[in-house]
Amino acid sequence: MINNLTCNNLLKKKDYIIFCNFYKIIKNTSFYTDGYAIASKQIGIRKNLFSLYYKSFFFFKNCFYIWKSNEKIIYKEGCLSFNDIKTKIRSKYIAVFCENKYLNRSKVFVKNFTSICLQHETDHLCL
Ligand SMILES: [Zn+2]
Repeated sequence: MINNLTCNNLLKKKDYIIFCNFYKIIKNTSFYTDGYAIASKQIGIRKNLFSLYYKSFFFFKNCFYIWKSNEKIIYKEGCLSFNDIKTKIRSKYIAVFCENKYLNRSKVFVKNFTSICLQHETDHLCL
């Protein structure tokens, strides 16, 4: 399952500041919007960075898919940037490569709700 990738001083300073902003935005808005994640493009930064808050705070840097399951899951998704809720069909399981807090690339396998969040945030990065 997902590693605990928390904001800390092992990150490059610029990325650390971005992830701390993500943390503040998610903590300040999730109570009202049910938002659990945010991508850098949502705050005007053209980098492959996003954060997810689900039981703990996680960051993802330079994340890309290496595998998506054919098994699907249907979910009504909301977004911090848009008011409407849309029903989406997502892969139930995915595997990604991303940088961890030690700046090493690592393989992360996620399922169900976490998989939906990662796919949603990856969509933001591609828009
Ligand atoms: Zn969104």
